[in-house]
Amino acid sequence: MRILILGGTSEARALAQRVAGDAAYQATLSLAGRTRNPWLPPIPFRIGGFGGVDGLRDYLAAEAIEAVIDATHPFALQMSDNARLACATAQIPLAALTRPEWEAQAGDRWIVVDDIDTAVEALGDAPRRVLLTHGRLRLAAFARRPQHDYLVRTIDRPDDIEMLPQHRLILERGPFDGASELRLLENEQIDVIVSKNSGGAATYPKIEAARELGISVVMIRRPKADAVAECFDVEAVMAWLAAHRAAP
Ligand code: NAP
Repeated sequence: MRILILGGTSEARALAQRVAGDAAYQATLSLAGRTRNPWLPPIPFRIGGFGGVDGLRDYLAAEAIEAVIDATHPFALQMSDNARLACATAQIPLAALTRPEWEAQAGDRWIVVDDIDTAVEALGDAPRRVLLTHGRLRLAAFARRPQHDYLVRTIDRPDDIEMLPQHRLILERGPFDGASELRLLENEQIDVIVSKNSGGAATYPKIEAARELGISVVMIRRPKADAVAECFDVEAVMAWLAAHRAAP
């Protein structure tokens, strides 16, 4: 069965590793090409956009793809929408490999917001030490609140980082562990963290560390996506694939 995995996440990575050893599947992993040194899988891969819904539909036909797994990040809305539309037109089964979102627990001090702009507002007027972990896009929005001191953590250097008046950049790729997250928050005297509600284990230790230290988290809620079959782990995807392979 020829399958396309839309990637850019640790889940996509795990799925690529899993299907690599299974002769029943010929899988290709697709990456957007956003990070400079992406992890390269043990299966064929391609890098770069398809050219919207039409480009993806043409690719699916040219490569005779029989099923698509959308294992992109929960905030990669455009790619997921394109996959949904292209697969519907081409009548190709589509499933999402995704992570349940994080739920606030006792002791969490979350301020839940809808988007980056409301996250900026939620920081308030008094100067604070802010850890920005929401990714390298839309950093410039925080320039509207120049009174804060920003510590920015991203994988690659953000293009608009210089727009932030007071900032320091840490280039780091997860997963992160609890002890180093605690150390970072304490050493840097962080007052508030800005995070997307990405779900998953790789970036959760900062949320646990914030809980332990009583630090606020401005949590950006997930955008709503139209439903497709959702799988929460690799074996669920394998079962879904097997069911679709068996279908006439
Ligand atoms: P997006 O806004 O949903 O997608 C924008 C465009 O990028 C898509 O229309 C598509 O271009 C291209 N694209 C995205 N993912 C692709 C993939 N896996 N393979 C080929 N083309 C892809 O995506 P984004 O939020 O910028 O995220 C880009 C990538 O980074 C995704 O693969 C995602 O899994 C990963 N990522 C995103 C976040 C996040 O917070 N958004 C966090 C961690 C990782 P065309 O229309 O030309 O096909």
